[in-house]
Amino acid sequence: MSDERFEVVIVGAGPAGAAAALVLAREGVEVLVLERGDFPGAKNLFGGILYTSVVNDLLPEFWERAPIERHIVNRRWLTLDEDTQIGLDLKSAKFDVPPFNNTFTALRSKWDRWFAEQAEEAGAMIICETNVEELIVEQGKVRGVRTGREDGDVEADVVILAEGANALLAERAGFRPQMGPRNRVNAVKEVIALPPEIIEDRFHLEGRQGMALEYFGGAVKGTVGSGFIYTNHDSLSVGVGCLIEEYLRLNIAPYDMLDDFKAHPMIAPLLRGGETVEYATKMIPEDSYDALSDLYEDGLLLIGDCAGLVNPSIHHEGTNLAMASGVAAAEAVLSARKANDFSKARLAEYRERLEDSWVMKDLKRYRDTVHFLLENREMVNEYPDLAIRLVRRYFTLDDTPKDDVLKELWKTIRDEVSFFKAARQMWRARKTML
Ligand SMILES: Cc1cc2nc3c(=O)[nH]c(=O)nc-3n(C[C@H](O)[C@H](O)[C@H](O)COP(=O)(O)OP(=O)(O)OC[C@H]3O[C@@H](n4cnc5c(N)ncnc54)[C@H](O)[C@@H]3O)c2cc1C
Repeated sequence: MSDERFEVVIVGAGPAGAAAALVLAREGVEVLVLERGDFPGAKNLFGGILYTSVVNDLLPEFWERAPIERHIVNRRWLTLDEDTQIGLDLKSAKFDVPPFNNTFTALRSKWDRWFAEQAEEAGAMIICETNVEELIVEQGKVRGVRTGREDGDVEADVVILAEGANALLAERAGFRPQMGPRNRVNAVKEVIALPPEIIEDRFHLEGRQGMALEYFGGAVKGTVGSGFIYTNHDSLSVGVGCLIEEYLRLNIAPYDMLDDFKAHPMIAPLLRGGETVEYATKMIPEDSYDALSDLYEDGLLLIGDCAGLVNPSIHHEGTNLAMASGVAAAEAVLSARKANDFSKARLAEYRERLEDSWVMKDLKRYRDTVHFLLENREMVNEYPDLAIRLVRRYFTLDDTPKDDVLKELWKTIRDEVSFFKAARQMWRARKTML
């Protein structure tokens, strides 16, 4: 072990690691963040909605100075078949004023860099271009990390792992469950450049207003997954993602699914004239609450995606859970530091803090969402398709009397839907998905 020693070493300068570093540094803790990218955010990717209730607590009115793209005033949830879309549209002037519903679009290369700088300004040391290769574990206690640098061991009272979804260090050390096709979404995303005036015109936005469109059902070939378009200032974030098991089942590659999505007659006009300037793919953990590991060990805490803290429901939240877990971990470390005790028993306070917060309450609420959808594929396939056909027929104008149209619709429902099965599914959907 080298002589390099910090009170806390954090692996990864994404939202989780930077939030933990910021809270610790403000309390005067010697904290080192090791990041493998050229700068924080250099290699990071997400769909595009940054949820900021935690950021606003840490850095009040951050939007005045942070590199955010747009604040989202309009959200749409839509389902497609081959030529039609139906959906729910929420647009509110309430979201157009601070704190903007804590919902912004962002690009990670800009946001992560800025957020990590706030931790640096508070006193954290961030060293980039440094890959942590393994945890140093002695007699069951994590004592530090081994990096790819020469003389690259760093000792610490506690290591916080914030390495993201591809949690190789945590997995190798046996501190979290293995990744599998049923608990990982693979998403592909393009950033498509368009002039701001065209975005504002096309999506009916003014100034820095933004829009989020999320697509289900036929948009992603009836899989447990979704597609999205988010408006940035001068680009669109466009992507699709579904469980790896779904790609295998349909024998389709993620980029083919994205190409089909982009070519859909309801999507293509929204992207027209744009130029793809970025293309990337990444995994999202969708571990159920029941599959989470303890998240704390002797001398170790797991936060953010690496801990599996992503809300897999229609809310699709990850960034805010990552930052909230970073704050909870930092607070548990501050207590442990006071007691000079970094044992597993002491660090259990981190989990207790999470359990008491909305983070675990939400993960418990949606613990069965993915499993329910996999076992009831009608919810993402037949039912959205049927809903489109019924609504389209109801509003298709011909000379059929409306009474006859309604009779036709009821017949379609009776022919295609098993009443008791659907009633049970809706009951379970209410409990697992809403
Ligand atoms: C395609 C996609 C779409 C998403 N869309 C959304 C969305 O719209 N809204 C939302 O809230 N969430 C979304 N998420 C989830 C969200 O991105 C994550 O929940 C969030 O980024 C987790 O933050 P984190 O800090 O835990 O991990 P990450 O952001 O992954 O950061 C991990 C950091 O650790 C570094 N690192 C990893 N291993 C090492 C190592 N060995 N040594 C040194 N550094 C290392 C990485 O370089 C990275 O900087 C999406 C995710 C994906 C993949």
